[in-house]
Amino acid sequence: MTTFAPDRFGPLARRITRPVEIGGVQVGGGAPVVVQSMTNTDTADVATTSKQIGELWRAGSELVRVTVNTAEAAAAIPRIVERLAMMGVNVPIIGDFHYNGHTLLSNEPACAEALAKYRINPGNVGFGKKKDTQFAQLIEFAIRYGKPVRIGANWGSLDQALAARLMDENAQRALPWDAGRVMREALILSALESAQRAVELGLPAEKIILSAKVSGVQELVAVYRDLARRSDFALHLGLTEAGIGSKGIVASSAALGVLLQEGIGDTIRISLTPEPGASRTQEVVVAQELLQTMGLRAFTPMVTACPGCGRTTSEFFQELAKVVQEHVRAKMPEWKISHPGAENMTLAVMGCVVNGPGESRHANIGISLPGTGEAPSAPVFVDGEKTVTLRGEHIAQEFVALIDGYVQSHYGAARAD
Ligand code: SF4
Repeated sequence: MTTFAPDRFGPLARRITRPVEIGGVQVGGGAPVVVQSMTNTDTADVATTSKQIGELWRAGSELVRVTVNTAEAAAAIPRIVERLAMMGVNVPIIGDFHYNGHTLLSNEPACAEALAKYRINPGNVGFGKKKDTQFAQLIEFAIRYGKPVRIGANWGSLDQALAARLMDENAQRALPWDAGRVMREALILSALESAQRAVELGLPAEKIILSAKVSGVQELVAVYRDLARRSDFALHLGLTEAGIGSKGIVASSAALGVLLQEGIGDTIRISLTPEPGASRTQEVVVAQELLQTMGLRAFTPMVTACPGCGRTTSEFFQELAKVVQEHVRAKMPEWKISHPGAENMTLAVMGCVVNGPGESRHANIGISLPGTGEAPSAPVFVDGEKTVTLRGEHIAQEFVALIDGYVQSHYGAARAD
């Protein structure tokens, strides 16, 4: 039976899972929920893939997965890991294997060694009699090289033999389940039975993470609730094929938010389809913001901004909110080292006197801009006290300077003094 314990970052109870160590990053066992992402470059292109991994890492991805689909991709892995070390990028790399993973790992021992974790999809390690053999080979590589694995079942590549077996069993029931429930059970069993087989082959349970991804919000919640109830493996959460733009963000946040609130989930990935020309790092930002807005972790100072309404006379306050958000996000990698704790700072940018002073007082630093008919001045509140009133054309620069000054005087070495 699953047990729960208080979360070290907030009041939410977390499901207790087995801890899994991935290249120095702990997933599960009460560790903070880990943010991960995946590249969309050709892995065989060492320069481009390394560059994108660096971007994802700088954005805050704590694990990065790459597809390993060809001999060229497998051969590129040790070169990518070497290049990342030269770039000062310190992030464990996970190899995503389908169909030919056993062959690639066999032919490229340096790839098997360089990866921090292998992802195996039990629905497509092989077909027919080869399935069991090839799955066992992948697990044996993990044992030989001391690597953890994610056994990642996916709705879109469900183990067809298992699905057929469950359909047959269902037909024998006095009250047959509906088809959706049978397919959910097939997905869950695919993950659980594969994990059991891996343990029987000699892979410790502390080297196994499970996932069972679907693309529907309600189905995902149902699948993971069941998976959490039936095992104590660490769980990787993600809504597969979430979609593009706001649809992908909303669907992922809705599904993962429910599960995280129930203490389920040890690492998350937001599977967004990037808008044309958009940065791949958006999925990392969304994952961080989901965890931070839920109070599970802190990554970057949070900016509270009112939505604006007919009382605001210009777009200035929207621009200021954007400038402030972008400034603190850009500064955070530096502050993380020089002024740890700055990620907990709260900021407020408000459009008028109705809620402005009140909301600003609740933030570490808040500014209340003038609304329609109000005097052209912007009072600034620091830790609840009004300290200065900004006027003129340089309000944005002056407010950003106040934020920087607050960080200098309140976090890191300054706090220890
Ligand atoms: S704080 Fe003022 S400008 Fe902002 S939404 Fe409220 S009333 Fe409108």
